[in-house]
Amino acid sequence: MNDPLTTISTRRTPQSEPDPAVADRQKRNAGGGHAFKISDEARIHRFLTLGTTGGTFYAGEAELTKANADVVLAAARDRGEWLVAEVVKISVAGRAPKQNPAIFALAAVAGLGDEVARKAAFAHLSAVCRTGTTLFQFATYVQQFRGWGRGLREAVGRWYLDRPVEDVAYQAVKYRQRDGWTHADLLRKAHPVFDRAADPARSALLDWIVDGEYGEHIPPLVHAFERVQSPELPAAKVLATIAEHPLSWEMLPDAARTPQVWRALIAKGMPQTALMRQLPTLTRAGVLDDPGTLATVVTQLVDPGRLRKARVHPVNVLLAMRTYASGRSVRGSSSWTPKRAIIDALDAAFYAAYGAVEPAGKRTLIALDVSGSMGANISGLPLTAREAAAAISLVTLATEPACDIVGFTGGGLYGGGLYGSRRRQGPITELSISPRQRLDDVVNYTSRLDFGSTDCSLPFQWAAEKGRDYDTVVVITDNETWAGNVHPHQALAEYRRKVGHEVRQIVVGCTATDCSIADPLDPHSLDVAGFDSAVPNLIADFSRGDV
Ligand code: CA
Repeated sequence: MNDPLTTISTRRTPQSEPDPAVADRQKRNAGGGHAFKISDEARIHRFLTLGTTGGTFYAGEAELTKANADVVLAAARDRGEWLVAEVVKISVAGRAPKQNPAIFALAAVAGLGDEVARKAAFAHLSAVCRTGTTLFQFATYVQQFRGWGRGLREAVGRWYLDRPVEDVAYQAVKYRQRDGWTHADLLRKAHPVFDRAADPARSALLDWIVDGEYGEHIPPLVHAFERVQSPELPAAKVLATIAEHPLSWEMLPDAARTPQVWRALIAKGMPQTALMRQLPTLTRAGVLDDPGTLATVVTQLVDPGRLRKARVHPVNVLLAMRTYASGRSVRGSSSWTPKRAIIDALDAAFYAAYGAVEPAGKRTLIALDVSGSMGANISGLPLTAREAAAAISLVTLATEPACDIVGFTGGGLYGGGLYGSRRRQGPITELSISPRQRLDDVVNYTSRLDFGSTDCSLPFQWAAEKGRDYDTVVVITDNETWAGNVHPHQALAEYRRKVGHEVRQIVVGCTATDCSIADPLDPHSLDVAGFDSAVPNLIADFSRGDV
């Protein structure tokens, strides 16, 4: 077992064929090359953090979703407790930019798991579905797998009973409906039974939700919410109500959202995600023209404690920054003049959202796949895989003192080949990316690079050819390699022999497919999912040799 001598090979196999030495562990990827099959655990991790929305360059959304759902549903049936633990781990730490894959997986276990697994899914419903919106999402998904039996009714009922009544009131007036669900719908289904006399505020709140009945013990926030809905309420009264109660902007009617009201909400401290999303509105309305308010917002945006508490995902900071810096909404219906201080704050917030990363102190090469397929949008977001790759690389680039970065496509080393005639650069080139550059500039620079076929062996061949000695190579790719005369793991083996020491490889996968260029049996190779916010720490820990 694990005889190191068996890993020594001088074999070179074109990527269009499997490597005979490991053919049983490889499969044809969508690009027509051959790569390693990843484990079901790794696939589920990719699904939970990357999702399947929008598909990939090669696979449509429906096809990719079906392929992933088959793996998730099998895990829900056969090892539901494990799947619940994965879902909780990803969701509670805010490691995914979107919650819906985790909620889908939880709903699958709630419907298909054995009794112990279903109980585990229900026990963690409140931890995963922390807001009304995500609870509605769960309700939609769970009906795809089961009916409203006792276990589900009790679990949804507990969502309304176990948290403090003020929290339930907050969720009830903030997220009033979604996906065809209202809280009244859920309460009618769940019909939670509790000691109403012992908990009169909750009793009054649930009655108000279900039939609008206005009991004397109704929580004060509901009164406040009702009061500010009135168009006749004077502005001073609106401000006084905001000062006294935790009203969010969603709870206010459009007409009440004046610059003065926005400033009051900011001064009280808006939830971090809402603040990020409202920056265009705040700028357009002139709210940030007031230097004091601007300073407060800047301080709040970069506050590590606020970012952590709200589980703000770096990719969502990147998207907020791109939109904000462009000065135009994604649909183009509104525009604003971006404020430099806000763009800089979002730039800093991106790094802060990844949390602290201890450098590994290793000589590191980051290799970005900039081939054609990486130009496809990722996870259904207005962001291409190559732009995301550039952003992900920035954290490692900023952390490691000795770090180089290249972009590669394919078509033969140093020019020529398939796209050589119109190529301004070779198929692999050092990128002029510095962590001192602003995030959106780096992303824009990457989107303008030449692209072509895909050969993930190029970084290793390039480093060998140039006599560059690295301890760690990070390849950020969709793993659809096909254009080379040697497999990436063979080129890595050659490079390791040439430099005469262990070289660690970390493959950062950008799509929820079932392939990786990393050999799962190579103890010095690691495959991670690109949008997992733990990636920079996983890279540093593995590079250092801690895992
Ligand atoms: Ca490609």
